[in-house]
Amino acid sequence: PGATVKDLADAAGVPPARVVKILFSLGEMKTQNQTLTEEEIELVAEELGVRVELTEAVDLSAPEPEVEDAPEDLIEKPPVVTVMGHVDHGKTSLLDKIRQTEVAAREAGGITQHIGAYQVESGGRKVTFIDTPGHEAFTEMRARGAKITDVVVLVVAADDGVMPQTEEAIEHARAAGVPIVVALNKIDVPNANPDMVMGQLAERGLTPEAWGGDTVTVPVSAKTGEGIEDLIENILIVAELEELKANPNAPASGYVIESQLDPGRGTVATLLLTRGTLHRGDIVLAGTSYGRVRAMMDYTGHRVEEAGPGMPVEILGLQGVPEAGTGFEVVEHERMARARAQQAEAALRRQELAQGGPTRRTLEDLLGQSGVKDLNLIVKADVAGSVEALRDALTRLSTDEVRVNIVRSGVGAINDADVKLGAASEGIVLGFNVRPTATAKQVAEREGVEIRTYGVIYQALEEIEAAMKGMLAPET
Ligand code: GDP
Repeated sequence: PGATVKDLADAAGVPPARVVKILFSLGEMKTQNQTLTEEEIELVAEELGVRVELTEAVDLSAPEPEVEDAPEDLIEKPPVVTVMGHVDHGKTSLLDKIRQTEVAAREAGGITQHIGAYQVESGGRKVTFIDTPGHEAFTEMRARGAKITDVVVLVVAADDGVMPQTEEAIEHARAAGVPIVVALNKIDVPNANPDMVMGQLAERGLTPEAWGGDTVTVPVSAKTGEGIEDLIENILIVAELEELKANPNAPASGYVIESQLDPGRGTVATLLLTRGTLHRGDIVLAGTSYGRVRAMMDYTGHRVEEAGPGMPVEILGLQGVPEAGTGFEVVEHERMARARAQQAEAALRRQELAQGGPTRRTLEDLLGQSGVKDLNLIVKADVAGSVEALRDALTRLSTDEVRVNIVRSGVGAINDADVKLGAASEGIVLGFNVRPTATAKQVAEREGVEIRTYGVIYQALEEIEAAMKGMLAPET
């Protein structure tokens, strides 16, 4: 699909009617949404006195393996599992319990850290769990073309049954062609009614095996731990049918699961490998970010020298903060990585230009959207005391309708990374007695992120609270 009349008009900063007119004068009748030939684009551009450069749209998300792997190079890869289901049905509790069980089994007192994904073992085989429940993360990654999930665990509370988000989760898993394993949770509660729930699931095409269907349904309790082992074994059985294989003897590639800027350590990114082996010292390219892997940790925080397919690792050493779902690959030379990161950055800018720039997200827009439950904030201040005070006070503004989420807070000027995080989390950046740097301002413009600065804490609180109540006075 080429550029339309409107695309060209937007990119050139003229009304579409002007392009239509020029085309008319050239003997071409075109409406706004019709596509143009390269020749037409050039002729119109000449007439408008603008320079055009024709480029292919770039896809930053899907790293294509350059070579097909020979069957003899393939080994079994741990399945990657995403937990989905209705709110309060126990997704977070289940992920926590599974992680605890594993830690307890492995070593007493082992500390797990949150890196966005973790692994458990059963019968000598591993399962990788994405540690962010819910289908927002799942769909967001899919929107970037990241096909990460091999199995969806659908959590349904046995005392509540199929609810709207349960149905949404089923739809998302089906759309992605990912098999579903049902975790019938909260079987420990006295009013649990597994039969009622299984009936509801059967109505939606998820007939349990016990009823002659083919949906693996495991009763569990995220509270007592009952059924957890069984769940993991069943995930492995379902995964086996998928024949998940990968070549470990190849340069590593995969996806960014999450990333953030740590004041002390720089960019901290969690990668999930889908192919090859990643080594410390490798040069990683992820969209517009790149860098040499300075250190690599597994989800227990232990330093590792290498990581294979299916394994989540946290790495240090990237420049820039790549968004979740961005594909990554290992390249041979740093120069090449830099050049390709710059190309990606330029391509991104061109795309935005062609789309007439990003839509600006203001506090009012965010809160005006129906169904917005989280208000994501990035908070920067001049001194640590103010950061603390703001963070506490802002968090306390949370209501039943809107939850205030401090994505990141810190001391210092508002920098590029703050704004990029604002963009990635669809949030707002707040500054207290600090201002954005010049480049942060540019990034904010480009990414459509709102920056609000204050000199008095209560004013910041008042405005946010007013906005949350839908009463914010129009900006003057
Ligand atoms: P999420 O919104 O799906 O992530 O649900 P949470 O994990 O936050 O759980 C919601 C509530 O249900 C919390 O109060 C949990 O303690 C409780 N809960 C979760 N799983 C179980 C379970 O198996 N048994 C019981 N009794 N309570 C549970």
